Amino acid sequence: MSDTVIEPTVERHDFGAEVGRLLDLVVHSLYSEREIFLRELVANAADATDRRRFESLTDPAIAPPPEAKVRIVPDKAARTLTISDDGIGMSHEDMVSNLGTIARSGSRMFGQQLKATNPEDRPSLIGQFGVGFYSAFMVADRVEVTSRRAGTDAAWTWASDGRGEFTMQASARETAGTDIVLHMKADAEEYLEPMRLETVVRKWADHVTLPVTISRDGKDEPANEGTALWRKSKAEVTEENYHDFYRHLGNFDTPWATLHWRAEGAMEYSALLFIPDMKPFDPVDNDRESHLRLHVRRMFITADAKMLPPWLRFVQGVVDTEDLPLNVSREMLQTTPVLARIRKAVTNRVLTELKSKAKDAADYEKFWDNFGPLLKEGIWENNEHQKDLAPLLRFKSSSAEGWTSLPDYVGRMKPEQEAIYTLTGDNAESLARSAQLEGFRARGIEVLLLADPIDAFWPDRMDRFEEKPIRSVTQGAADLAKLAPTEAPEGEAPDVTALVAALKTALGEDVSDVRTTDRLVESAVVLGAGTAGPDLQMQRLLRRAGRESFAPAPVLEINPRHKLLTALAARVAEGTDVADEARTLLDLARVQDGELPRDPASFARRVEQALASVLGRVG
Ligand code: ADP
Ligand code: MG
Repeated sequence: MSDTVIEPTVERHDFGAEVGRLLDLVVHSLYSEREIFLRELVANAADATDRRRFESLTDPAIAPPPEAKVRIVPDKAARTLTISDDGIGMSHEDMVSNLGTIARSGSRMFGQQLKATNPEDRPSLIGQFGVGFYSAFMVADRVEVTSRRAGTDAAWTWASDGRGEFTMQASARETAGTDIVLHMKADAEEYLEPMRLETVVRKWADHVTLPVTISRDGKDEPANEGTALWRKSKAEVTEENYHDFYRHLGNFDTPWATLHWRAEGAMEYSALLFIPDMKPFDPVDNDRESHLRLHVRRMFITADAKMLPPWLRFVQGVVDTEDLPLNVSREMLQTTPVLARIRKAVTNRVLTELKSKAKDAADYEKFWDNFGPLLKEGIWENNEHQKDLAPLLRFKSSSAEGWTSLPDYVGRMKPEQEAIYTLTGDNAESLARSAQLEGFRARGIEVLLLADPIDAFWPDRMDRFEEKPIRSVTQGAADLAKLAPTEAPEGEAPDVTALVAALKTALGEDVSDVRTTDRLVESAVVLGAGTAGPDLQMQRLLRRAGRESFAPAPVLEINPRHKLLTALAARVAEGTDVADEARTLLDLARVQDGELPRDPASFARRVEQALASVLGRVG
């Protein structure tokens, strides 16, 4: 610069008092991660390029940008990082007012101008906030901006060390556009490494519509894809584009569903969401939160804005809104009503999609196999979406093949049947053979078999569907008494009052009750639960979790017609002690439900003795 024949005059300008304060704020506290400077500068460059393209439409003096891209050039020897664009550029006046004062953000004024313009003609503007430029001083101790306004010949260099004043000097630039030269601080040299820069650009600016290149060994290498797929209209996007982007998000399958829409009016956002076709390989699933990406005007903001409730965490993709500032704070992400409204709309849209995809039963099963338990979490988590979620649930059933739904079940209910019955356990196959179902089978009543861990919980929060109570068979003994079995057992059931009393005495605290039941046909005994309080599966979970005190002892239900019990009743009538047999019966009931006997060793001995005495008698 100093080689020029005519020594250009150097103008000195004071930053206003506000700028001084602002700089301090930006450098020391506004941004938690300082790599954001690059996002801001790339955003400004993209912004300026959009503006030039836009102004070239109406102003014949302005040519469209020759090369619509942003160049990042690190120079280790000079310890500078340069960000260049072919955008609209800045005049002397622009620079003084845009880079020297605040609250007169050029972009903001431009934004207002645009309000009256056709949406298609509106270039998308990134930095509407007005402090981004100063973030350069987080990493640089001196910043020089050389710029030439499109449609003019004059170029100027703005320079400052970010402390009180800046200088303006006549300069030269071959074409319109802007170069920002950062003289990096000693502790910010990492941003002179192309690899490091690429990581930052990929993280923050990938899918900016403008290509960004990083110079490596004198060559400009593309650092982003240069498209924001979600902002295009559906007609412009091919299936393949969607899949590429889906893979770019880190997936290997092809999406089961792709949702792409744009909301305009009260809320302005674009969304591109995917429902995977496979369970993600994430055995830990540790934070159980949605990691949908939030963008503001194409720029990536965060994947932690919880754009969907946790139970829709299998949905992947991007939500991009116009309605937030680019440097939205963490606090704001949690509290702003704008995001709350968008979250709600996005959640509803996903539910609507599931509802429509559920019409194709075979296809929906694939989804259900992968993510069904998460929808049950949704029922458990809040009441808000129960109405939408309930018909989306699928179940194995005691009488229907494959998967069935609550509406299907209700359609098959017997006229005199009052409730929807369920049986919960660890494994659907063993549930299907469980003695718990005998009495229901005998009466032709269907039971839904629940074998997901979450099944112990959600029925607590949704105790009915279409006015029909949802009830566990282990709590439904009373209902069965009202329904006649298809084949009535012969004769009156024997009176076992004395036996029941003897069993109660023998089992003491290990049962909360002993009672006769209509639930059994072939088996002698079964565990039951009180009509109030936790169901059997919940009791098991409580015990496994070491919360014995919250789990009431089970009810022992006996089949008074079973020959084992009639024989025992005879013993009791004779005055024989039946304590050992009582223990064995309770243990059998436990084993039947997949639990261990109370005392496995003594159970084994009792069964051995019983077998030996039977075989001894036979042999
Ligand atoms: P904002 O982008 O939110 O307006 P910034 O502090 O990032 O705030 O930038 C201030 C202003 O400086 C911009 O509004 C724009 O007018 C101008 N500016 C910054 N960078 C460039 C650039 N590369 N080309 C043209 N103008 C720019
Ligand atoms: Mg900006």
